[in-house]
Amino acid sequence: RGVLYLVATPIGNLEDMTYRAVRILREADCIAAEDTRQTRKLLSHFDIHTRLVSYHEHNKQASGPELVRLMRDEGLAIALVSDAGLPAISDPGADLARLAAREGIAVIPVPGANAALSGLIASGLPTDRFTFIGFAPRERKELRLELERLKAAPETLLFYESPHRIEKTLEAMGEAWGMQRRVCLARELTKRYEEFVRGTIAECLEHLAVHRPQGEYVLIVEGATPEERRAAEQAWWEALTLEQHVA
Ligand code: SAM
Repeated sequence: RGVLYLVATPIGNLEDMTYRAVRILREADCIAAEDTRQTRKLLSHFDIHTRLVSYHEHNKQASGPELVRLMRDEGLAIALVSDAGLPAISDPGADLARLAAREGIAVIPVPGANAALSGLIASGLPTDRFTFIGFAPRERKELRLELERLKAAPETLLFYESPHRIEKTLEAMGEAWGMQRRVCLARELTKRYEEFVRGTIAECLEHLAVHRPQGEYVLIVEGATPEERRAAEQAWWEALTLEQHVA
């Protein structure tokens, strides 16, 4: 019977490739990659010559069932990689893992680098409880709704963000949660220009006004304080009472 390996690859620093990842990628019957050109560079660095096929957001409807068939009916071992970090985390892979698991195929994680957790552990913000949000909605109204929904969340929040949008997202967070919320901008993790900017939303925006955003970011945000949670709860009750009056 076949097997699906979900293999982590580096998020910037090639030294973060694990011995196990190299071995599994060498031994697999085929590697399914989000971007075969990108993955080919990684494979050539580690002298891996396994056959590559493509599996991404736009072909997964057709490609997923075919990969499952190869594992189930032909007993193939397939290793799935994304462009960086863990497959299935803000990357393709979750659907394939679900399909494979449903067919009784062994789904095996091969852990390694991940941007969100790497940013979190170095952020200095609480790590005991956190919620991974990934990319915040792009559309302004949807973003506002999402931030409103998270306003009273007591746990640390993790976002992925591009350099083009980081200021807009921070401004929207400042509007929704107040400019004094503490955040950490974790930039270019594991790479040459790795940087952590820690401070309030206002301070981070000031920093970005001078040092223009560049590279990849994880945005780590402290959860609501007990006072903020009480205020949000109070506002919620007031809105509810008002609604009842109107009704
Ligand atoms: N699967 C990946 C993982 O496990 O971290 C995430 C892929 S997601 C498409 C890409 C986003 O992750 C980037 O836009 C950025 O927000 C974040 N990211 C990836 N590499 C990063 C790095 N080296 N430093 C900071 N953020 C990074």
